[in-house]
Amino acid sequence: RHFDDYQLSEEIKRALEVMKYDTPTEVQGEVIPRAIANQDLIVKSQTGSGKTAAYGIPVCEMIGWEEKKPQALVLTPTRELAVQVREDLTNIGRFKRIKAMAVYGKEPFAKQKEELKQKTHVVVGTPGRVIDHIERETLDLDEIKYLVIDEADEMLNMGFVDEVEAIIKALPSNRVTMVFSATLPKDVESLCHAYMIEPFQVEV
Ligand code: AMP
Repeated sequence: RHFDDYQLSEEIKRALEVMKYDTPTEVQGEVIPRAIANQDLIVKSQTGSGKTAAYGIPVCEMIGWEEKKPQALVLTPTRELAVQVREDLTNIGRFKRIKAMAVYGKEPFAKQKEELKQKTHVVVGTPGRVIDHIERETLDLDEIKYLVIDEADEMLNMGFVDEVEAIIKALPSNRVTMVFSATLPKDVESLCHAYMIEPFQVEV
């Protein structure tokens, strides 16, 4: 496996060099080429496998800097993970000047609302606060082309199934969906089968 196999742009390859990512991890080898080919993916993988970059690299690769509205939405169960993912995406997208923003509860809504008025390429957030922004029309989903549900089993265990479904229903249907989960219990599988198109399953 080599990052050169995936026809990534110079900007992304340069960022990977700076981050000292020399070789794709196993999950990255499975996910990156398929995500770039717009394949819906269900990925069974643990934290530490390099799963964030597995979706972060193709998402940053496909983003067009010129577009003003958000193009990717990443849902995470916790604020801590949202902040971490935002940081990873910012690093991967640094030479494309990709703007990633985290939205989560317990931080003033108004501050996030102001930030969302600026150009934002990727929104990373917890389901409750993402719903708030959708309902109050401070988050425009018209141009979302990538949806990532990270730690899906955790998210459903925390009782977020209704919020996650409501968010998915608010998204354009012409999108790529990637679900990452350490385990694949029934509720995660039924969510996947309801809202994904012929998903390819990756297990590492
Ligand atoms: P994650 O599973 O996304 O939490 O990533 C686990 C750790 O592996 C993080 O510290 C990443 O920065 C690091 N990492 C991810 N991909 C690579 C790679 N291809 N080469 C080296 N380190 C990596």
